Amino acid sequence: MRAIVMGAGIGGLAATLSLRRAGWEVTLVEQTPRFTEIGAGIQLAPNATRVLRRLGLLDEVAAQSTRPSRLSFRTWSDGAEICHYPLGREAEDAFGAPYLQAHRADLHQALAAAVPPESVRLDTSVVGIGQDDKSARVTTAAGERLEADLVVAADGVRSAARQWLFGADKALYSGTAAYRALLPAAEVADLDLPDFALWLGPGRHFVHYWVRRGDLLNVVGAVGTEAAQESWTARAEPAEALRAYDGWEPRVLTILERAGSMLRYGIHTRAPLARWNTGRVTLLGDSAHAMVPFQAQGAAQALVDAAVLGDTLAGVAPADVPDALDRYVRRRLATATRVQAGSARAGEDYHLPDGPEARARDARMAADAAGDGFGAHAAAWPVDPLDERTP
Ligand SMILES: Cc1cc2nc3c(=O)[nH]c(=O)nc-3n(C[C@H](O)[C@H](O)[C@H](O)COP(=O)(O)OP(=O)(O)OC[C@H]3O[C@@H](n4cnc5c(N)ncnc54)[C@H](O)[C@@H]3O)c2cc1C
Repeated sequence: MRAIVMGAGIGGLAATLSLRRAGWEVTLVEQTPRFTEIGAGIQLAPNATRVLRRLGLLDEVAAQSTRPSRLSFRTWSDGAEICHYPLGREAEDAFGAPYLQAHRADLHQALAAAVPPESVRLDTSVVGIGQDDKSARVTTAAGERLEADLVVAADGVRSAARQWLFGADKALYSGTAAYRALLPAAEVADLDLPDFALWLGPGRHFVHYWVRRGDLLNVVGAVGTEAAQESWTARAEPAEALRAYDGWEPRVLTILERAGSMLRYGIHTRAPLARWNTGRVTLLGDSAHAMVPFQAQGAAQALVDAAVLGDTLAGVAPADVPDALDRYVRRRLATATRVQAGSARAGEDYHLPDGPEARARDARMAADAAGDGFGAHAAAWPVDPLDERTP
């Protein structure tokens, strides 16, 4: 059985590995001339790390990651702790896998290194996908046609495949821009920062956590703003982020001052679809369900898609691929759509103006934490159709 995977992001790489484990021969086609990931942190919740374990990569990724002991929610103005949720041993025991914080390049590299080089076609843009009863095919920019039993389009939030399969719909700007930076630990050593904190304020929030075993502080400021480009490399105006956090607790401002010129990523999403597949072709990852990152679940959902895809397609005969893809989508779509909506709700909740609603939110979160809860962001962690275990 042969598959073509379009896109070597986290989703496409994991799908390649998962299908290979299931006995498929896979050609991974990526438009960039070399494997690349941007310099930023990524949180790997237990549903993501469970998939890494299945792929045999958990130890390698964990060795380069940080394991936060807790997530501390803070108030924007004075830094008072609203509540904290456990993320260390308690979360690992409850959810069956650790919570890790990694450098994206380390994760990407671990996934990419596990794919045999002869299975990869770099510098190859897919410009079309076609199929008939017997096979599916992609056309490349160089005019080549590659044929297989299955095509998986993991081409990200700006997916062209999604348009080819289901008609015109575009990536939608979420109304929030993410200001990003990585700071060497020595530059913030005097600030006595918590392991992992999420500061909540009107119209914006601020997140920081350690990556590379504590060598780097990953900083993300999420700010409601009218328009921003979907680009991992676009620079904000100097001091733009600092101005956006005017009046916040001094440590937040100090981090932003020391970060200097930050990168600005306009967070885009995709509307939920009623289906991801047609015949022998399916979407996977952000192309299917790009979401706001406020519960750190986009890549996690892509990893779970990949695991379920491999599991569903193991041992399938060529003629049965379309039915197997129906089963894959049935196993994934409702959960991914729920996580998309939950992530959007988290953003609204985090950005409430000061007042009764924000106080009610804080009281709710504190009660949840006092009652041994893991927080609303943990709703997606136990949901792994390969392992239905719930805490
Ligand atoms: C600020 C921010 C923070 C985030 N933090 C987290 C987090 O902490 N945890 C988490 O789980 N998720 C997080 N996410 C979400 C996560 O980054 C994405 O969900 C994930 O990277 C999606 O992976 P993907 O493989 O589906 O798509 P992508 O990573 O976008 O990969 C798509 C690939 O397809 C290739 N491609 C596109 N078109 C073509 C073509 N025509 N031919 C060939 N190749 C093509 C691209 O070059 C690219 O390599 C965050 C997102 C943002 C914006």
